Amino acid sequence: MISSLKLSNKLLIMLSLPLAIQLGVLVALSNIQSQAQLEADRAEHARKVSSAVTDLTNDIIRLMAGVGEKVSSAKGYLAETTMLTHVAAAEEHFRRLKNLTADDAAEHRVVVDSEATLLRAKDLFMRLRQLEISEAGGAPVGPDMVVVWREMHRLFANDVFYSLRQIGKTQEDIADKSPALQAKLRGQIQALALALGLFGTCCTAALAYYLMRTLARRLDLMHDNTLRLAAGRTLHAPLLGRDEIADLDRVFHAMAHTLRQAALKEKAIVNNARDVICTIDEEGCFVSANPATEELLGIDADAIIGLSVIDLIYPDDAGIALKFFDAVQQQGQSQPSAATSRSGSGSGSGSGSGSGSRLVPGRTLEVRMKHFNGSWKDTLWSASWSAEQNQLFCVIHDITERLKTERLKQELMVMVNHDLRSPLSTLQITFALLKSGKYGRLSAEGEALIDRGERGCDRLLQLTRDLLDSDRLEAHKMELNVERCALEEIALGAVEAIAGVAETRQVLIVIDLPTLHIKGDRLRLEQILSNLLSNAVKYSPRGGRVRLTACSQNGQALISVFDNGPGISANKIDQVFERFKQVQAPGQQMPGTGLGLTICKALVELHGGKIWVESEVGKGSQFSFTVPLA
Ligand code: ADP
Repeated sequence: MISSLKLSNKLLIMLSLPLAIQLGVLVALSNIQSQAQLEADRAEHARKVSSAVTDLTNDIIRLMAGVGEKVSSAKGYLAETTMLTHVAAAEEHFRRLKNLTADDAAEHRVVVDSEATLLRAKDLFMRLRQLEISEAGGAPVGPDMVVVWREMHRLFANDVFYSLRQIGKTQEDIADKSPALQAKLRGQIQALALALGLFGTCCTAALAYYLMRTLARRLDLMHDNTLRLAAGRTLHAPLLGRDEIADLDRVFHAMAHTLRQAALKEKAIVNNARDVICTIDEEGCFVSANPATEELLGIDADAIIGLSVIDLIYPDDAGIALKFFDAVQQQGQSQPSAATSRSGSGSGSGSGSGSGSRLVPGRTLEVRMKHFNGSWKDTLWSASWSAEQNQLFCVIHDITERLKTERLKQELMVMVNHDLRSPLSTLQITFALLKSGKYGRLSAEGEALIDRGERGCDRLLQLTRDLLDSDRLEAHKMELNVERCALEEIALGAVEAIAGVAETRQVLIVIDLPTLHIKGDRLRLEQILSNLLSNAVKYSPRGGRVRLTACSQNGQALISVFDNGPGISANKIDQVFERFKQVQAPGQQMPGTGLGLTICKALVELHGGKIWVESEVGKGSQFSFTVPLA
């Protein structure tokens, strides 16, 4: 049961038990002490009573001696005042004795009786004296005198004086025996005080022993557990009990369990990562690596340890790699507590000596690494320096495929620009010439064919333009020729560009614009607007109406295109600005590339504006964007 108590309660019990005993002993000690004091007072009192009784007895003896055995012997003496002096002294001693015996009724009674007897004797004495004076002149003792003398003598022989002497004797006895009694009590006090001291010492020793055995031993165990945790060894079994130390130990075990679980998870993540996660020492050699080395470099994680990193890097990239490691180390040493690397795409202003390497100082590095099958891999490094362990912590990501795709895309764009756009433009001119009748009139069938060919050619040209624009925007290579433009002129240009389609679809375009001047690239703004108008016309029903409006708002021009087409469902509305996204149901979808709105969004944002759409299915859509006012 005691083991289930809290430590504070245990200590309280352990301290309060001996304290209670000590308190009891102290009470007993104080009791004996007051007994001893009482005994001393009693002895003092007895001595005083005994002394007063002795004085009184002496007075009475003196008086009796003065009065003598025969009446004749009292003659002469009676005339002396000595007798009166003795009586006065006796009266004084009686007063003292009465005060001393005030608390003892029996003794007091004896004293009072004795005093009364003495006073009667004094009266007789005074009569005797009178008689002597009247019988003066050497006359023999008269019969009256004899009677009075006898009476007085009888009084002195009274028992009451005997009782008085007895009181004196008893008190003397008490006073005589008291020192022995007091010595006995003092002995008891000393013995108890000694026992108390010994008990206190024993209790302190027992408490110290208990604390050492329980607290110190258990704290040692916990301390050992912390060392075991740090060394990754098994912990001691949890401490029993429910006190604070046992609670703390339980929390420590729970914490150790959580840490181990976290470490296991971390290990599992590192072991299963597709990227190489490794550490490199100051000499540039691998210290540890995860199994991903097998896939990326064709070498076992254990076998790579001790190999020099530079030996695995393409010779032309080695210089930039060394520069990167130095920069990361320096950054780590100047900010030991802060993470020195931030993962990044490496798309910042990097520079490198070799064609395959790029360095973003303190961030990421792109280098080619040797695969043990003899090929080269493009890798992206991010690293941080651990000042504590003097090691570089690195993550190496395989970007071979990504770079391959990027290169392919670049080649494709070059191909689209040169091998597709130029012939298509030539084809467009050819169709126009054929239609003009310069090379002879065409049959109706021939004209229809030319029209179809022209439309296909337009669509392909639009696609190539969109692809090239999209690529330029993505690569942040689109440059704007910003100038002050009249919105009306831009709107007219855009409307003109889609007038043909609007006419074919019999859609009326209503322009409702105030006079506004905006800041931007005239051609790109026209491109945005014609794209929105073209979509609005495309999705409007035959004979429908498209409205173009604008107003100034917070220093910006707000331009909107309204149509009464099918609208866009709420769950797809967020996707319309995504690349290649076409959100209409197959029956309602119009031909297009799915790139127009993506390009519009990028161009509007490049101008510092925003673009958005509000739509209701069955009622139509409203595409709006803002551009700065000039
Ligand atoms: P597309 O070349 O397909 O028109 P956009 O990027 O211009 O590509 O538009 C993306 C998609 O958004 C379109 O395919 C269409 O599904 C939808 N969309 C665009 N404008 C409208 C509109 N005015 N009304 C209804 N749907 C539209």
